[in-house]
Amino acid sequence: MDLFNSRILLPTSEIPKEWINILPDLPTPMTPLVNPADGKPAPPELAMRIFAKECVLQEVSQENSIPIPNDLRAMYASIGRPTPLHRAYRLEKELGIEGDNIKIFYKNESVSPTGSHKLNTALAQAYFCKKQGINEMVTETGAGQWGSALALACNLSGIKCTVYMVRISFLQKPGRKILMKIFNAKVHASPSEFTESGRRYWEKDNNHNGSLGLAISEAIEHCLRDESIRYSLGSVVNHVLLHQTVIGQEAKSQLSKIGEYPDIVIGCAGGGSNFAGTAIPFIREKIRGVYPETEMIAVEPRACPSMCKGKYMWDYGDTAKMAPIVKMYTLGHNFIPSPIHAGGLRYHGMAPILSILLKNKVIKTVMHHQTDVIQAGLLFAKTEYILPAPETCHAIKEAIDQALKAKENKEKKTILFNFSGHGFFDLLAYKEYMDGALKDYEMPTEEIEKALSAEDMPKINEAFF
Ligand SMILES: *Cc1c(COP(=O)(O)O)cnc(C)c1O
Repeated sequence: MDLFNSRILLPTSEIPKEWINILPDLPTPMTPLVNPADGKPAPPELAMRIFAKECVLQEVSQENSIPIPNDLRAMYASIGRPTPLHRAYRLEKELGIEGDNIKIFYKNESVSPTGSHKLNTALAQAYFCKKQGINEMVTETGAGQWGSALALACNLSGIKCTVYMVRISFLQKPGRKILMKIFNAKVHASPSEFTESGRRYWEKDNNHNGSLGLAISEAIEHCLRDESIRYSLGSVVNHVLLHQTVIGQEAKSQLSKIGEYPDIVIGCAGGGSNFAGTAIPFIREKIRGVYPETEMIAVEPRACPSMCKGKYMWDYGDTAKMAPIVKMYTLGHNFIPSPIHAGGLRYHGMAPILSILLKNKVIKTVMHHQTDVIQAGLLFAKTEYILPAPETCHAIKEAIDQALKAKENKEKKTILFNFSGHGFFDLLAYKEYMDGALKDYEMPTEEIEKALSAEDMPKINEAFF
């Protein structure tokens, strides 16, 4: 155990100079975003009314890489990039795998000022909006991590920020709401009374739990009110996954400095951005045959298993059917998830890029129960002394399982997982676990079948494309 070298750091000059675009390497072509109004691929003008122009161009770019503006690299430097890569020596010892046969590394995105990887894309999106002369950004947030990242990024770039926050989290996680307000964002509990999509639910039940899909509808409606407003997504779409590739590129050069390359790359998956951002540099080398054996594992909660139990089909991005229709693994847009603590993993769909990679068996997925996941997080906290977010605990649980499997099979494995965020705003999840009050939820297969055969699933004719 070499604790002096357990943290591998890079100088700010080694912040990546470009993002890696995986679109040209996908085994089957990227599917378009479809306009819910007519079932045809959304014209760029419509996408540009909703998103920053630069992000729309990145969304469909076929370039292998896209340069990161130097001013934005400076912003990354100012908020803690490059982030450290750690070797989990004490966790390894606890698992009885001391030595150098099985190694566990984690990329620590929790050192960002809002505590997760989400600032990587928030800074980029706010930067491009500012450059374009936009003066307000609007978004939705589940657990509040995305909202607080965008609030900080907008504040840094001098743009107004409005956030629709899923009500269950608004109530369960007041800390995140306060953080957003510290950065001058306006925060509304969703469903709210401020939009038509929200009022439909709010009027029936003003204590409705809400869902990410519903909050997206409210944010898009808000965006369409004024030409100077742009909407922003924290996950799922191609440009967000692109921005997150700084994680994997840094991790790859950190590992190469000590002569390592991962056999297994693991990340938790809500919309898929932190997993994809970590894995894409390795996925590209796998697809190109440089390192064809690398295993990529996306981890989901059993309560919201979009890839593990959903189907690959066209679906709306949101409950009110205002967001673009995308082809993805989905549990159906009407899915209202159980209130598990990993709020960031409670989205009904999955990034189209990851959906294509899963369909073509380039990546794998697994799912775990909430209690097993929090138990793994506690073990991590007690050995590595960083408290993981409940979302991150999913990746930790799988990394531990993979390490123990390798131990049993007497295999050599280098495991890399992304430590997507810290859990200082999620202490209640740990309290519930320690009090023995934490429950497991599993989505019954019949319910998924029913949701996916619902009358209002979009019917898209790909022959028209
Ligand atoms: C938002 C979030 C996630 C899930 O989002 P992805 O887009 O799938 O990465 C995971 N971990 C943390 C800490 C988050 O904040």
